[in-house]
Amino acid sequence: MNNLTQVIAAVSTPPGKGGVAVIRMSGNGAFEIADRVFFPISGKVFSECKTRTQVYGYIIEDGERIDDVLATRFPMPHSYTGEDTVEISCHGGILVTRTVLEALLRAGAVPATAGEFTRRAFINGRLSLTEAEAISDLLEAKSREQIRLSGEGARTRLSERISAIRSALVDLMSSVYARIDYPDEDLGDFTDEELLARIYNIKESCESLISTYRTGRAISEGVRTVICGKPNAGKSTLYNLLSGEDVAIVTDIPGTTRDVLERSLPLGRVMLNIADTAGIRENENMDAVERIGIQKSRQMIAKSELLFAIFDTSRPFDDEDEMIVNAVMASDSPKIALLNKSDLPPCFGKERLSGFDYIFKISAIGDGEEIIKSLADAVNGLFTDEKIVIGQDAVISSARQHAALTRCVDYLSAAAESLALGFAQDAASSDIERALGAISELDGRAVSEEIVSDIFSKFCVGK
Ligand code: GDP
Repeated sequence: MNNLTQVIAAVSTPPGKGGVAVIRMSGNGAFEIADRVFFPISGKVFSECKTRTQVYGYIIEDGERIDDVLATRFPMPHSYTGEDTVEISCHGGILVTRTVLEALLRAGAVPATAGEFTRRAFINGRLSLTEAEAISDLLEAKSREQIRLSGEGARTRLSERISAIRSALVDLMSSVYARIDYPDEDLGDFTDEELLARIYNIKESCESLISTYRTGRAISEGVRTVICGKPNAGKSTLYNLLSGEDVAIVTDIPGTTRDVLERSLPLGRVMLNIADTAGIRENENMDAVERIGIQKSRQMIAKSELLFAIFDTSRPFDDEDEMIVNAVMASDSPKIALLNKSDLPPCFGKERLSGFDYIFKISAIGDGEEIIKSLADAVNGLFTDEKIVIGQDAVISSARQHAALTRCVDYLSAAAESLALGFAQDAASSDIERALGAISELDGRAVSEEIVSDIFSKFCVGK
């Protein structure tokens, strides 16, 4: 992280060769630095050219033309960072891009660190911390639902909801303090009941946001999922079907499938983090005890939040199937049983299974779309609230946000309790103040440097 008085510069497009690369420069003095190396073909000085308009010209250093580029300047505060910002679109060759960046650095800019542009946007009040977190998630998004969750609509809505809670708390506190500090002023009656009602109101707003966490987390972070079943039950076939690609093909080369420990696949609204795909491709020579009895499998099942147990109904239900059922039933997590190979004459059916949340009869080599639809509906029902419209509603998705809101609720409960016990409003006010502290942490107004650094460390350079 550079000093805020420095002008930072970085390539904002991904590393590598491309048609165009974008170099961003931000800070007080960015326009002067640009003037030293960028010369519009109009002959005008760049810093005097129209703002927010692309200007064509040359990057020239020591009399040598490096590239012809388009440059745009965004004066503070109406830029991404809230500072004077220049964006230069140059030709996307690796060396050209680097040479243009180096020219800016030699002219006075310093290299930006990871996430520094967004961090400056946060420091300059252009973004709240929850919005910055959403942008970081957007850059990492692996599903359409994740894009919706961290897109502009959702992040603005969340920020607005948090701001509203914050304003309500500030309002409440100032009313209480005014009455405590100026008892002789006629500030109107403010009964304990009124105070309680307002506390409950704010608490309810927090709780309604907290209730979105289950959905937000299932979409954003995902659900730890295990697919188990005896050899040849159809685990790889199901996995391929869910992933839409042939990634789980059984191979005879030992070790090749042991490297992938977890893979994220979207199913419905939920992201499934399928654990130990190595386990999906088991060694035929292993006996059942080895296969599902080994400590690791048990741990995986114990840690999973969703279990798929797949059975081959074309063969009789045997001890191995029984062991799989028992292993799965040891977990409290939701369980989905798949009676596979329904295209073949069945040797058994649902009657062999109990304790599952859902049982589907499928043919994993059959109509994939239909299977995915049924499984997606089941998983959506288990992990998300269908009333929530992702992209429109305010949804929290990080443990940090959840913890801060929970703390806020705890303090508000404590405040309500002390009023109910007959303590003076004074006593409640300190808990209300703590509740406000928790919300300030949430939107980043009062958050520790460590947390801010952790959030911005997830960004890439140039963002
Ligand atoms: P795994 O050992 O549990 O991963 O099982 P696989 O997915 O490798 O499947 C074992 C064999 O069963 C393969 O030849 C699959 O093509 C076949 N198979 C999987 N699902 C079905 C199904 O629904 N019907 C039929 N007839 N065969 C299937």
